[in-house]
Amino acid sequence: MKTYIGKSVYKGIVTGPVVVLKNDDYQVKRLKIEDAESELARLEKAGEQAQKQLQGLYDKAVKEVGEASAAIFEVHQMMLEDEDYLDAIQNMICTEMVNAEYAVAVTGDNFSEMFASMDDDYMKARAADVKDISNKLVKNLTGQGEVDLASIKPSIIVADDLSPSETVQMDKEKILAFVTVHGSTNSHTAILARLMNIPALIGVPIDLEEIQTGVQGVVDGFRGEFILEPSEEVCTQTKERMREEEEKLHLLQNLKGKENVTLDGRQINIYANIGSVGDVGYVLENDAGGIGLFRSEFLYLGRNDLPTEEEQFQAYKQVLQMMAGKKVIIRTLDIGADKQVDYLNLGQEENPAMGYRAIRICLKQPEIFKVQLRALLRAATYGNLSVMYPMITSVEEIEKIFVIVKEVEEELTKAEVPYQLPEQGIMIETPAAVMVSDELAELVDFFSIGTNDLTQYTLAIDRQNEKLDDFYNPHHKAILKMIRMVVENAHRYGKWAGICGELGADLTLTEEFVRMGVDELSVAPSMVLKVRKQVREMNASEA
Ligand code: PEP
Ligand code: MG
Repeated sequence: MKTYIGKSVYKGIVTGPVVVLKNDDYQVKRLKIEDAESELARLEKAGEQAQKQLQGLYDKAVKEVGEASAAIFEVHQMMLEDEDYLDAIQNMICTEMVNAEYAVAVTGDNFSEMFASMDDDYMKARAADVKDISNKLVKNLTGQGEVDLASIKPSIIVADDLSPSETVQMDKEKILAFVTVHGSTNSHTAILARLMNIPALIGVPIDLEEIQTGVQGVVDGFRGEFILEPSEEVCTQTKERMREEEEKLHLLQNLKGKENVTLDGRQINIYANIGSVGDVGYVLENDAGGIGLFRSEFLYLGRNDLPTEEEQFQAYKQVLQMMAGKKVIIRTLDIGADKQVDYLNLGQEENPAMGYRAIRICLKQPEIFKVQLRALLRAATYGNLSVMYPMITSVEEIEKIFVIVKEVEEELTKAEVPYQLPEQGIMIETPAAVMVSDELAELVDFFSIGTNDLTQYTLAIDRQNEKLDDFYNPHHKAILKMIRMVVENAHRYGKWAGICGELGADLTLTEEFVRMGVDELSVAPSMVLKVRKQVREMNASEA
């Protein structure tokens, strides 16, 4: 038995088999070979393995997201058989007498650059695909072939780090817990673990090479412990604690259907945050009054091209229909910083958190923004939709957004497409937005305070930097004063203000938020009933 200590990002306790996802940022080395034939045979075998992996991905995607979205894996299968691509790799092996992984990596880079430099948008998008299939081949050749997450039984996933795009692609049913060597408590991967209701530990000092997939593990998010090959005694204790946790959750179920009202009658909305259509089940299961933040950018991650208007429309419509008239606040694309997509070619930035992201991309590339707005306005006729814009800093940005929204309305009217203009609000997550929140309140319908970024920008602390976790203090007086100011300014203009950042679920602050006059708290689905309990046991008028 071996115990490791890390930082907990979601409290929960589980036991189960471990699956190790090996780091894939290894360097491909150029090696001289003697026998080209056996190298070609290795290449062929890796290709066959990749074909099988892609077929598995295709079958899974057809079931979960439909044939149109799954088609990309068919494209990858065809690319793997492309004669020009294969000839280039085989030629390199035979003429330069180099190892197959090197020939694949170089050919992949060359083809990718060739696609990227083409004028045609469709061909440009293939640059990322050819990189993907080359990486797959290299991994298979080096024996680091991806763990087929589709075929594992529910497991504890152990990795060096996980990006948001890797995390969203995982099958939630197959994940008991996450354990990572790196990562910060405020990253989107941590947020996703909370959304998925999955115990998660980060900063766990493990050597991935020393752990075997298949061994038994325990993740204790309460104590921040990851235990490998637990003793009989620890196994028994763990099972007992899991049972106790189940019981506590069971007790919370009694609060379903009850109002979010304080002892002295103050009412508040408790909504839930989601990242995908698949999360709506958790929202309903936990009796949230609505969806306070749908991070729509997750629809854009883990794929090779932009989601089309139709794909987005179907996703938004489905969420609205499932929520059956309850409020659904969809945030427009908040890509950038840690949420990267290759196909947008955003490039490397010195300070990505302060970089080209979110509404800045939408205002600079309105063609991307308009596709999403069209899908949103069309979907609005199917339920109670509100749209929310991220990373706002000024009145001018709102004015520019409204011009684009107007254009979209005119286009839809002209094309006789049914639509509705939803309520429009903004995220307050920059100090600038806080300071001009009086002016902003006049223009928009509501505010939702993004405490994750607001803390990052106010305290000048990169939320991705794990070294700064101890300094990242959302309880800082500056943040609490800002929240109060935003709420007061919203109310002055008859608008409502909520909190959708992680601080909204901080039970030690629930009373303070309610007393400040916060109208809505949007939290991970698993936190809805806990916050409701807190609200129902407090007095709003107490000093
Ligand atoms: C926030 O910044 O608080 C927020 C809710 O948005 P995100 O965490 O996605 O940046
Ligand atoms: Mg944010």
